[in-house]
Amino acid sequence: MKQENPTIVKCPQCKLPVVWGDVSPYRPFCSKRCQLIDLGEWAEEEKRIAGAPDMSDSDGWSENQ
Ligand SMILES: [Zn+2]
Repeated sequence: MKQENPTIVKCPQCKLPVVWGDVSPYRPFCSKRCQLIDLGEWAEEEKRIAGAPDMSDSDGWSENQ
């Protein structure tokens, strides 16, 4: 399946649109700078974000008997 409409999120720091994909390694932030700014705030609140669901498509089913 192809995704022709990439998910766009807003950078929590500067509100710029960020493509939710491999092109945005710092998502949901637009850049490392924004990520670091937010991480700095987290450090005080000890806030954690649950990771995005991992879509692992491994069909390596092995029958070991
Ligand atoms: Zn930003």
